[in-house]
Amino acid sequence: MDEFSLSNPANKDPNRQGRLVFLQKNDPRCVEVMQLFVEGWSHPEKELPYVHGVYKILSPEWMLKPFRDYKTSLLKSPFWTPFFTAPQVDVKETLLFHGTTRGCLLAENEKQGLLCNQPECHLCNIIRESFDMGKCGSKNKFSRFGKGIYTSTCSSKADDYSSSLSEKAHFRVLLVARVVKGRTHRLRRSDRGLLAPPYGYHSITGEPGEDLNYEETVVYKNEAIRPAFIIVYGDKPLPLPPPPPPPPPKSKRHAKRGLSFEAMVRKIFTSPIAEL
Ligand SMILES: [Zn+2]
Repeated sequence: MDEFSLSNPANKDPNRQGRLVFLQKNDPRCVEVMQLFVEGWSHPEKELPYVHGVYKILSPEWMLKPFRDYKTSLLKSPFWTPFFTAPQVDVKETLLFHGTTRGCLLAENEKQGLLCNQPECHLCNIIRESFDMGKCGSKNKFSRFGKGIYTSTCSSKADDYSSSLSEKAHFRVLLVARVVKGRTHRLRRSDRGLLAPPYGYHSITGEPGEDLNYEETVVYKNEAIRPAFIIVYGDKPLPLPPPPPPPPPKSKRHAKRGLSFEAMVRKIFTSPIAEL
């Protein structure tokens, strides 16, 4: 039984809200996701944010079966050409980050576990129906490897694509997806016209080097990826404290001292003794 299945008895958690289960900090999966997040935070100019929590995403069987079937189908598709032998197909799942738009306050705290129905809330839509190639492309106009579903080991890169539409949102969220790369084709140069990986391959891995600064993985089939976790992190920038009153400038202090000295002199010269 799939670890992420709603039908899995192991997921009968009293803390479950709809599709989400808030994981305790000592839960091995919570530790794993937090570790991936911290290790994947690679942008030197971005400060590592504080992680507030990790939710496990449960899915119905109708969503998980095509994913399982896809893995099985990859194992049955040997690849050989007269020119070279392709690398072994890799059907193991990799957890990768995906930043998207959150229209509601899902996962903002442990009580916000129910999906919304806003069409602009891509987070809830992905959790409800999984990733959809048909909806890709409109958002990431500058996708380096064409129309596909983009993920990365680099959490700080996925963070660039994470946004919250609600003004009440205090934290940021990233999806962590289970991705089956299969046989992945490695590229260092962008190829924006891609609609699929080359024949015999199942995904593209963009490697840092020429056009990319950080790794990314693209799959071109809905069934190659499923949402697995939400990680909640970061903070809204706190309003800046009011600046302390500036110390009086030195020249003014001197001027003040000078004035009082003048006033003192004036007082002496206008006193009755001075007049005598
Ligand atoms: Zn939502």
